[in-house]
Amino acid sequence: MIAEKKYIKPATLEEAIRLAHEHKDDFSYIAGGTDLLVNKYQGNHIAQCLIDITGLAESKKIAVVGEHLKICSLTRLDELGKHEIITSKFPALIMAASEVASPMLRKTATIGGNILCENRCSFYNQSEWWRESVGYCLKCEGDICIATGGKKACFSKFVSDTAPVLISLGARVELRDIDGSKIIDLETIYTGDGIKPRNIPDTSILKTIILPLNQDIKIIFKKLRPRQAVDFTSLTTAVSLNEEGAIKIVAGGVDPKPVIIKGDIKGNLNDYIKMALSKSRMVDNDYYSRKYRREMLRLFLEQSFEELKNI
Ligand SMILES: Cc1cc2nc3c(=O)[nH]c(=O)nc-3n(C[C@H](O)[C@H](O)[C@H](O)COP(=O)(O)OP(=O)(O)OC[C@H]3O[C@@H](n4cnc5c(N)ncnc54)[C@H](O)[C@@H]3O)c2cc1C
Repeated sequence: MIAEKKYIKPATLEEAIRLAHEHKDDFSYIAGGTDLLVNKYQGNHIAQCLIDITGLAESKKIAVVGEHLKICSLTRLDELGKHEIITSKFPALIMAASEVASPMLRKTATIGGNILCENRCSFYNQSEWWRESVGYCLKCEGDICIATGGKKACFSKFVSDTAPVLISLGARVELRDIDGSKIIDLETIYTGDGIKPRNIPDTSILKTIILPLNQDIKIIFKKLRPRQAVDFTSLTTAVSLNEEGAIKIVAGGVDPKPVIIKGDIKGNLNDYIKMALSKSRMVDNDYYSRKYRREMLRLFLEQSFEELKNI
């Protein structure tokens, strides 16, 4: 294990960002730590300075602002289900959050950390000696992707369970850095590059997740994992339909970024399923085989369209 040499817990957002810029070559923000610390113990995360952002009081509220719900990034996953508006307006978000990890972890894990949790691969999420014995992979400074034998691309999987539902809901995120705030669509932060899966600067803090309240969206959420009680996803899908007939498929666990297909309920649903399958760059880097996960993706999407008709 590579222990950090410096651990700092600032009290304000401004101080956290200033400290991040001071240590910008070798630091990480830490929230619940349930993703970052595991990567650290496995030697995959090597920053020497950790900036703990859980003391930022202003990042702990959930509030209605105009026609939006603002969920602060430090909200623990198990708190989402206790909030009246989230329960009544966004039940699929609670379902997705309650499928993350285990009850104990959800008391510590935050929604911001979930959106930003590191991509995974069965050849990367291993101990240091295991990775060394296979010659390391592209994501940990080796020169080959062990899953595919290729040299150009890393196919580590995007695994956040809440992000597919949030993207279905049209979530935007507020990022704060030294030069102020910006608000962008959540779906735009994912790059599709397994080595650097997100395009936001390391020094930016994800402050808030913003959800439009005045919309009627039905969502079917599904997740495939070996052990229901704790495992990361092998496949996550959120299929949604809004009041105007627009549909959206968002799939996780099948590509380095969420696979998103947009269409209309009057269109050919089988074509949308085919598009989702062809856009998913699945490789054999999971507990389940690529072939099985492709079949399960098809099945989940077919079932979700059927279920949408009945709610
Ligand atoms: C056994 C086990 C099972 C798990 N199963 C699942 C699962 O099924 N599904 C799933 O999605 N995840 C799973 N996880 C991963 C993890 O628990 C969750 O993704 C969790 O929500 C991460 O939140 P956190 O607050 O602990 O993030 P942290 O570990 O603190 O941070 C994760 C990353 O986000 C960055 N970060 C966190 N908050 C911010 C912020 N506000 N601004 C900028 N950067 C930030 C950190 O720098 C780090 O890079 C599992 C973990 C374990 C140990």
